[in-house]
Amino acid sequence: MSDAARRVLLVSLDGFRADYVNHIMAAPQVPGSSPLPAFRYLLANGARAQAMLPAFPSKTFPNHYTIATGLFPAWNGIIANTFTLRNASGAFPFNMQNKDPNFWMGEPIWLTAQKAGLVARTTGWPGSEVALHGWNPSKTAATFNYSQSGFERVDAVLALLRSSSGPPAFTSLYLNDVDDWGHAAGPDSDAVETAIAAVDASLWRLLQGLNASNLLSSTHILVTSDHGMAQTCGCGRTIPLTAVLPSTMAGNASAVAAIVAAGAADGPFIGIPCDGCSLQQARALATAMNAAASSAGYGPVFTASAKQDLPARFTGYGASSRVWPVIGLPAPGYVVASPPPPGSTAQQGCAGTHGWDTQYSAMHATLLGMGPRFAAGALLAPPAGAAAAGVAAGWAVPNVEVYGIMAEIMGIAPAPNNGTAGYATRVLLPRC
Ligand SMILES: [Zn+2]
Repeated sequence: MSDAARRVLLVSLDGFRADYVNHIMAAPQVPGSSPLPAFRYLLANGARAQAMLPAFPSKTFPNHYTIATGLFPAWNGIIANTFTLRNASGAFPFNMQNKDPNFWMGEPIWLTAQKAGLVARTTGWPGSEVALHGWNPSKTAATFNYSQSGFERVDAVLALLRSSSGPPAFTSLYLNDVDDWGHAAGPDSDAVETAIAAVDASLWRLLQGLNASNLLSSTHILVTSDHGMAQTCGCGRTIPLTAVLPSTMAGNASAVAAIVAAGAADGPFIGIPCDGCSLQQARALATAMNAAASSAGYGPVFTASAKQDLPARFTGYGASSRVWPVIGLPAPGYVVASPPPPGSTAQQGCAGTHGWDTQYSAMHATLLGMGPRFAAGALLAPPAGAAAAGVAAGWAVPNVEVYGIMAEIMGIAPAPNNGTAGYATRVLLPRC
């Protein structure tokens, strides 16, 4: 294998739940026609994980940046889509538009590639527009444009790969159709089926474009997703924030407003700020919240705990000073919701969301790999010890492993990460 065959194209299909692939595989094939040709091509010619395990919280920005860095959120800094960083200088809010390098920790794969002397270019990957340690986004990262169609995004990547100076060693592509419709209509909706077909059409355009440029057989395409999607439809599945707070807080409008303002209430879980709280005080608050939830009839579907008391499968989440002292977790399908704005008449529809405990299979994501180092038709087994994350051995590959796989394919030294040493060489074919 020549050096030219060390190329990586990292694809994200936002919200593409693990079992969507099984539905594609199970769909009857009509002779002479090929529904979802791109997925069928990738599955026939590439390897796949039965599922990919997201990091907690199963949210978009934490998991895209975990895939990019191989670091769990406590170590990559993006502990939620919205949060507040508090330090001696003050309180600094983070949201998904924020490009302040102070929030983004670790070393994303595009930077690792660049530091190794390779050319990396990104289009629309969370964190890639942040100027981090010599990465100059104005030259290396296309600005994410939500209104751009899937075909336009694919064409932008193909243009990068057809560059007169040669294809970059690393490129990325982000497609959000499936997540959008998963939220709007729920994961089992016809709208999601239509969105999967739209994503397939974009991927088919990508595969055809690569083939036309003689790049298909030498490019490693990693198709990933950040998390799954679960239905939130059903009576009584919205848990009012005030129902899980002790009465002294629930009856205090400014205390409730402070929780919402801390960026901890975008659901489905809840983080409670508790400035200056000791562990003992945080545990007492969690106990009081659980008592309030029980009194309100939500005991079976809600558990609060001090962040230090979260189970091992939360992979050190509570170790981050950015994480709220108390975390309240609803059962799958239940959402802790902030009080609606005064005068709001909005009713929750039958729809979907994500963000729950990652042991819940509806939160599991997707990992497919095709290219010279992937054995066609192979199943990527998780590393030994993945069961510690709360998932049965032999099942889901943790998404922290993707960074090491990409580094191994590109032949570059990975930065320190939470992946498993030696895993990439075990699941990839040897380099010729
Ligand atoms: Zn997402």
